[in-house]
Amino acid sequence: MDAAQRDLRELLSVPENYQILFLQGGGLGENAIVPMNLMGRRPDATIDMVHTGSWSGKSIQEAAKYAKVNVAASGQSSGFSRIPDVSEWNLSASPAYVHLCTNETIDGVEFHSVPGIAERTSGAPIIADMSSHILSREIDVSAYGVIFAGAQKNIGPAGLTIAIVREDLIGHALPCCPSAFDWKKVADNGSMYNTPPTYAIYIAGLVFQWLKRQGGVAAMEQRNIEKAQLLYQCLDSTDFYVSRVEAPFRSRMNVPFYLRDESLNAAFLSEAREHGLIQLKGHKSVGGMRASIYNAMPLEGVQALVAFMQEFALQHS
Ligand code: PMP
Repeated sequence: MDAAQRDLRELLSVPENYQILFLQGGGLGENAIVPMNLMGRRPDATIDMVHTGSWSGKSIQEAAKYAKVNVAASGQSSGFSRIPDVSEWNLSASPAYVHLCTNETIDGVEFHSVPGIAERTSGAPIIADMSSHILSREIDVSAYGVIFAGAQKNIGPAGLTIAIVREDLIGHALPCCPSAFDWKKVADNGSMYNTPPTYAIYIAGLVFQWLKRQGGVAAMEQRNIEKAQLLYQCLDSTDFYVSRVEAPFRSRMNVPFYLRDESLNAAFLSEAREHGLIQLKGHKSVGGMRASIYNAMPLEGVQALVAFMQEFALQHS
């Protein structure tokens, strides 16, 4: 536990005034755990939330059980192909906090910088769901009040949920908050208030050591940029494939794409499988294809995918 938390702190340069909590409940659990822990601080304040795709949509529904929610911006009218410009966000003057999903796993939309909203929100803390891109790129932790992530993409087995919480935001839980999810109780007990998900933490610890051996998050980011560029270049070089996300908002981790002729979907998936390329079917809510190219996917894997896609396009054009 200690080594895993120390290594994560080092990898993300987490400042001293932030606690690293190892919880259970997954990303969706945090959708309730976050408002239950923060709304005691400002019970009458509104939560500002930005709707950029499926996962922030779920966060909005859940938060509305605990507080009044203002959807400050939504990409829905563009089919979540872009993040509305921050100048257009309809922010509250002093929200309890502002919630973002900084990488939308299903829609393939990623924030590539932290929106500058402090002046317009009386310095409200930004809460970020980083479940599907944590440790894929360097981040400035101090720009956020809370960062949370389920472990199962870039960290380790499902069952472990990470929360990185600024210390002044701890200790304000609503009375309804279960003790096992009260950040104060969890922090005071070194993330061992209840039995922690020991095996998931052990594996996460090994992944953190592996990341350090790879050169840390900066090195992973360079690798992830290279992987994503290769795949998006392939998509943009032909009209056989279509990426519906506008270039400035494209995720480096999750690359949804469509075959222009969707009647070829089944052939694409089965021929891909013959080449050892699996898990390419898009999420059922959006269809098409999706290549998730998390930290564990080497450049060679993306090169193999691109070679297959080019060959498939030639054969079926
Ligand atoms: N948020 C994001 C960004 C996700 O990608 C996911 C899972 N795919 C979740 C939340 C939900 O996580 P869990 O299944 O661990 O509750």
